[in-house]
Amino acid sequence: MALPNYAYFEGKIVPYAEAKVGILTHALNYGTAAFGGLRGYWNEKEEQLFLFRPLDHFRRLLNSGKFLCAEVEHTPESLTKVAKELLRAENYREDVYLRPLLYKADEIIGVKLHGLTDEISMVSIPFGLYVANDTSAHVTFSAWRRVDDNVIPARGKISGAYANSALIKTDAVRAGFDEALVLSQDGHVSEGSAMNLFMVRDGVVYTPPVTDNVLEGITRRSVMELAEKELGLKIVERSIDRTEVYISDELFFTGTAAQVTAITKVDHHPIGSGEMGPVAAKLRAIFSDVVHGNLPAYHQWLSPVYEK
Ligand code: PMP
Repeated sequence: MALPNYAYFEGKIVPYAEAKVGILTHALNYGTAAFGGLRGYWNEKEEQLFLFRPLDHFRRLLNSGKFLCAEVEHTPESLTKVAKELLRAENYREDVYLRPLLYKADEIIGVKLHGLTDEISMVSIPFGLYVANDTSAHVTFSAWRRVDDNVIPARGKISGAYANSALIKTDAVRAGFDEALVLSQDGHVSEGSAMNLFMVRDGVVYTPPVTDNVLEGITRRSVMELAEKELGLKIVERSIDRTEVYISDELFFTGTAAQVTAITKVDHHPIGSGEMGPVAAKLRAIFSDVVHGNLPAYHQWLSPVYEK
């Protein structure tokens, strides 16, 4: 991966090579950080880069910071401004990914959250597909369980919790799968390693509720609204059993990185017809139109980077 040219670091935009932390940094040793992940989509016709729902992403980042007792000066608005300055410095004319990180910056020994210094950094890179096989992903049920909300806040993007996601992803990929489905401690389907799950049965769209140890996904929220308003579908948030997955008509993941990824096989069981279904296909097309700024009804979700 090519490294970024710039980073937002300790309050200003600096060359990426200057954005360095020491090996004693608290967050690096104990996972005491929270991160975000946003996409910016390039619209060639308008020569504009659109950040997708930055205020919602930064609100979630600051909320994750609350779990970590973080004290920072920033607001969602001020972080959006920083993000745009950074992206303008990079001068991107392509789809990008933006990675903000809120971290415990002290170089000390001692596991705790209080009385530490919080910093926010940000970098961005050009970004294409995250799940390469996003129209026919083959997934497996992970042997790992999703981190429980009473272990590490599941609705926060807490860096330390991503050791759980990494265990899940590596085992799945090494076993030859594209991704994994993860059960919660009580045996319900929660989500993928870093994406939310939707299931279609008899024309109704189901997704696990936010109380089933899922991240409160911004793509999840967006896709629920699009499925309802644009496709007239009924969305039901309820727990999903493992065996429902095998007999579902369609399954798909949503996430900033995964966008809308169709799942066509689970542990070698074909889902529905064994090919991407109509709901996933339509949502993929609508979502792509929305994020690239081609559906004016959803322009309020987009924030233009370049001043015209
Ligand atoms: N679940 C987890 C565990 C994630 O890391 C992500 C990625 N942020 C998602 C779901 C999807 O969330 P979003 O749509 O906000 O990117």
